[in-house]
Amino acid sequence: MTANAHFQIAIDGPASAGKSTIAKILAHNFQYVYVDTGSMYRTITLAAHRAGLAYSDEGAIAQLLPDLQITFQPGTPLQRVFLNGQEVTEAIRQPEITNNVSQVAAFPKVREFLLGKQREIAAQHSVVMDGRDIGTTVLPHAQVKIYLVASVAERAQRRYRENLEQGIDVDLATLTKDIEERDYKDMHRKLSPLTKAADAIEVDTTSKSIDQVVSEITNIILKKQQNHPVK
Ligand code: C5P
Repeated sequence: MTANAHFQIAIDGPASAGKSTIAKILAHNFQYVYVDTGSMYRTITLAAHRAGLAYSDEGAIAQLLPDLQITFQPGTPLQRVFLNGQEVTEAIRQPEITNNVSQVAAFPKVREFLLGKQREIAAQHSVVMDGRDIGTTVLPHAQVKIYLVASVAERAQRRYRENLEQGIDVDLATLTKDIEERDYKDMHRKLSPLTKAADAIEVDTTSKSIDQVVSEITNIILKKQQNHPVK
C-alpha cells in the first residue's frame, strides 16, 4: 500500500515543454482527472487584471481569492477553464497574462490558496496534474513523477504554432525571450520554485513525437502500477 488513496501522476517542467498535451492524453487513457495547475495561476492573474490591480499588489490580489471559483470542463485542444462560471480558456492564454503570471504565482498567499484546491482534487480522484511544483510540493507522494524538458528553440517553436492556431501573433525571437524569462522567474522564486524532484524521471521531448512521449511515460506508469495496485 502507498500513502495515497488514489493514484497520482505529477508532471512538472519549464514552459511549453509539452506538459498539458501529454498530461491530457495520459489522463484520458487512464481515465484519471486532468488538473492543469498553470491555468489556475493564469486565471488568478486574469482576475487581477480585470479588477484593475497592479500585478505587484499581493495584498489586493489576496483579497480577491475567496471570491474566485475556478472550474474545468473537458475540451480540445485545450481543457476549458471557467472563472466564476464565465469561460476564460482563451483569455488566460493572451500575452498580457502569460507575461505576468509568474509574478502573481510567486505570492505566498496565491500559492497557499491554490495548493489547498489542488490537494482537495487529488484527495477525491486519481489525477494527472501538471505544473511546476507538483512533484516537489503539491503531491510529494505521487507514485509517478515526470520532469518534462525540451530545448528552448523547440519550445518557442511549439508556442509559436499554438499561438497561431489561437490567432495570437508574437514573433519567434520575442517568444524565445519570454519563455526564458518566465523559466528564470519560476526557477528562482522563494516558494516552491520549479525544480526537478529528487525522485522524478526526466523525459526530454526534443525531437520526439507526442505518441513517443506518451508511450514512454505510459510504460513508466504501468511499471509503477504493477508494484502499487490502483483503486
Ligand atoms: O503551465 P503554464 O505555462 O500555463 O503556467 C503558467 C505559469 O503559472 C507558470 O509560468 C508559473 O509561473 C505558474 N505556475 C506555478 N506553479 C504551477 C503551475 C504554474 O507557479 N504548479
